[in-house]
Amino acid sequence: MSRLIVVSNRVPMLKPGAQAAGGLAVALSGAMQERGGVWFGWSGRTIPDDAAQPEHPKTVESGGLTYALVDLKQRDLEEYYGGFSNRMLWPLFHYRMDLADFTRVALGGYYRVNKLFARMLAPMVQPSDLVWVHDYHLIPMAAELRAAGLKNRIGFYLHIPFPPPDILTVLPNHADIVRGLAAHDVIGFQTPLDVENFETYVRREKVGRRLSAGRFVVHGRAIRVEALPVGIETKAFAETAAASGRNSLVRRMRESMLGRKLIIGVDRLDYSKGIAERIQAFETFLTLDDSWRGRCTFLQVTPKSREEVPEYAAMERAVAELAGRVNGAHAELDWTPIRYVNRTVGRNALAGLYRMASVGLVTPLRDGMNLVAKEFVAAQDPEDPGVLLLSRFAGAAAEMDGALLTNPYDVDGTAGAIARALDMPLDERVDRWKRMFARISEHDVAWWRRSYLEALEGDAETSPTADRLKAVS
Ligand code: UDP
Repeated sequence: MSRLIVVSNRVPMLKPGAQAAGGLAVALSGAMQERGGVWFGWSGRTIPDDAAQPEHPKTVESGGLTYALVDLKQRDLEEYYGGFSNRMLWPLFHYRMDLADFTRVALGGYYRVNKLFARMLAPMVQPSDLVWVHDYHLIPMAAELRAAGLKNRIGFYLHIPFPPPDILTVLPNHADIVRGLAAHDVIGFQTPLDVENFETYVRREKVGRRLSAGRFVVHGRAIRVEALPVGIETKAFAETAAASGRNSLVRRMRESMLGRKLIIGVDRLDYSKGIAERIQAFETFLTLDDSWRGRCTFLQVTPKSREEVPEYAAMERAVAELAGRVNGAHAELDWTPIRYVNRTVGRNALAGLYRMASVGLVTPLRDGMNLVAKEFVAAQDPEDPGVLLLSRFAGAAAEMDGALLTNPYDVDGTAGAIARALDMPLDERVDRWKRMFARISEHDVAWWRRSYLEALEGDAETSPTADRLKAVS
């Protein structure tokens, strides 16, 4: 079996006995433990701009895995990560042309860091290794590795949406970005819509064509392009949720609810998540239907993220103000409608909170997948499941056919859907939940990893994932 080299911006170090890491980190680490290999990426540390850039990554052995970690100069990090990745690619790929901020300086930093990573990684790769590059920070990696002489199978997985061509072409260097993607052997996207957007771009810009299901020629290279939605560790998460009654945070929360129904939202503080629209929808729901006043509580768990990016700091203020205004307008002496919490909740407690909730509000304006939607479903009590209210613009909507789908831009519609979810009879809730739970049990994170690696390893004429894709589309 070939070794696996995983390349990602951040490297989640698994420490034996530490708090359970995210499902993705566990799945990828598992693959590397089976096959051997290296996880390569940024160390999370910076060095001064005038320090000499080390020529080799630091290698660390931990939990049976090898990590190769690169310190970045402060300026490189700002341009590559804070700049081009998170102020240009992130907003644009989430359909937010209005927030995209392109500068040649940031673009230069993006390519410089990708070149640096490739130069450091290339000598560590053996000819039979598989290389799997993750996400939008590292689109040019494969082209740089190939320029360094690597002939290996190299795959890319985009965790965020791939936008339609009219949006992508706003990016001044869109042609280079797509050329970079095409230097891979396999491109994995979250949903069939992302594949369709890629295909339309390739056709309109006349840089290639689709040959058959999953087979493309782009810039003269034969590549595989597949929709393989990321899953979660469904079984383990369901077990954690079922055992969550022992968790002290979950117990305290339950006691504080005094029998009221819980509505939950869990999102990093990010403009793609539609948190302000969701709070507005909840307020509209309260004004539409008096009967729920005092009988339900909306818990919004929102850890801060990317505070160094100005759009995030502005949004943090706006959302906190909005939650405060709604509470000020509607609270009673013994009831606060919204509990807005700006801190990270650990996975065990989160599983218990999902399970306690009657409604999961997952209403991003645009999301590559949204794992919270899947976790909410996995955590439910099969005898008395809550209802998932899901944005049609989340990648998860392509799979979760038991959810109540909503358009987050339609505040009144979402408010009505909250009322419908709270009033939904048990048999309908069970029926909807069963369908979704079956789906995420089969298509869990292990399925995703296996399917991707089959595609990356295989050279078969027909796509081994084609029949699975039918189920997805
Ligand atoms: N999460 C968490 N604690 C929190 C908030 C979020 O562990 O307080 C986790 C959540 O369980 C999920 C992930 O962060 O696994 C968020 O993934 P998602 O795909 O929903 O959104 P992203 O943040 O990747 O855009």
